[in-house]
Amino acid sequence: MVASWSPAASHHLLSRPFRPGAVLRYYSRSVTTLYMTTAAGPKLAEGATYDLAIVGGGPAGASAAITAASAGVRVLLVERGRLPRQRVCGEFVSAESLDLLAGLLGNMSPALLQEAVGIPEARLFVDGHTVCVPVDPPGASIARFDLDAALWQAAAHAGVETRLQTSVESIAGARPFLVSTSAGELRALAVIDATGRWSNLSHKAKLTNSEPGQRWLGVKAHFSEESPRASVDLYFFEGGYCGVSPVRLARDHGNERRINVCAMVRADLARALPEVFMKHPQLAQRARHWEALTEPVGTSPLMFQRPRPTFNGMLRAGDAAGFVDPFVGDGISLALRSGAMAAECLTPFLKREISLREAAVRYSREYERRLLPVLRNSSKIRRLLRLPRPLRTSCLHLLENAPVVMRYLVRMTR
Ligand SMILES: Cc1cc2nc3c(=O)[nH]c(=O)nc-3n(C[C@H](O)[C@H](O)[C@H](O)COP(=O)(O)OP(=O)(O)OC[C@H]3O[C@@H](n4cnc5c(N)ncnc54)[C@H](O)[C@@H]3O)c2cc1C
Repeated sequence: MVASWSPAASHHLLSRPFRPGAVLRYYSRSVTTLYMTTAAGPKLAEGATYDLAIVGGGPAGASAAITAASAGVRVLLVERGRLPRQRVCGEFVSAESLDLLAGLLGNMSPALLQEAVGIPEARLFVDGHTVCVPVDPPGASIARFDLDAALWQAAAHAGVETRLQTSVESIAGARPFLVSTSAGELRALAVIDATGRWSNLSHKAKLTNSEPGQRWLGVKAHFSEESPRASVDLYFFEGGYCGVSPVRLARDHGNERRINVCAMVRADLARALPEVFMKHPQLAQRARHWEALTEPVGTSPLMFQRPRPTFNGMLRAGDAAGFVDPFVGDGISLALRSGAMAAECLTPFLKREISLREAAVRYSREYERRLLPVLRNSSKIRRLLRLPRPLRTSCLHLLENAPVVMRYLVRMTR
């Protein structure tokens, strides 16, 4: 049964503090407002000029926009899609970025964090082993449906000019940048590309060159489960993994049975969630009791490439700069952090204190120093999971019996 949403019914503003394991309902007035503003805006005024144009309204773009606008920069934030919307994501937000997220949201959607589902534990189901890892401090499970909408709303509140259903088609020059969009052309002194890991703006490897066996896709849906455990459960199998965790939507009104099920799988092995479930006996058994709450959403292709935080004078943030393996649950955190960092590095340029080139060099350095280690360590751990089975089994024995090692591995990805 799908819970229905109605603004009139959203009357519970519960201001209980965020606590691990809590599954509480929340209400956000800002999400209510957003439903009324999803239509594409009017054409851009002729000769429209901004200090900073940010392309992509995910966590990276919104974080950059809020940070820059709060520093007095004139910002345009452009998103080709609508909000709110479901997004392929495990919806786990690591503790390291919860303060940053709270700062970005300001007083716009306090309930989003206060009443999020706290996640104090991860369980890895691999080759018949179960490795429990404390998540300390606990992360939070926050539905992208609400998170992206709340950040977008906070950006508008911070003074950012926001445009939904507007696609950036090309970007030329650098002094200023000439940005062509579906709503007309604009000029901007600086541009942040926050278009995610695959977009018309990024020049990535051609798909035609990759074998189906090397292509990965992501698929997710929400289901209903009796008393879901406050943990991120990761089911690994040959050619992919599937994550399961409890999550809440603003419109749930006390339904505490919603879980997010999100898989990353090789495209030649499965294309839909039921096929994914069959890849892991324990997952297949658990999924027998689930009831679908949303239509599945998918994304493809998922490709891991060398991070590149700048390109042609533009700064890249979030997945556009570098895609971290999703199983470490740090993509949102990296998006928020790199978005804020990109805006911070550009602000002195926009205040005419340094050149654009200098701003880009500062950003690359900061990215390399603070974020690159997370991406590198995550791909090392990913390789560990791809070891031949006998070797992997020995590693799993070690991890089962040495939680200190496991905690160290988790720390390496933060
Ligand atoms: C299977 C899977 C599971 C994951 N699980 C987790 C998890 O549990 N925890 C976690 O932290 N991370 C997870 N991630 C990663 C996380 O989803 C991403 O890292 C995060 O969404 C990156 O945010 P972003 O803002 O960089 O990009 P996105 O969220 O992808 O946003 C980019 C936006 O740009 C817009 N856009 C693109 N091109 C244009 C254009 N030309 N003009 C205008 N707009 C444009 C898109 O519509 C989109 O809204 C997962 C990813 C996958 C694939």
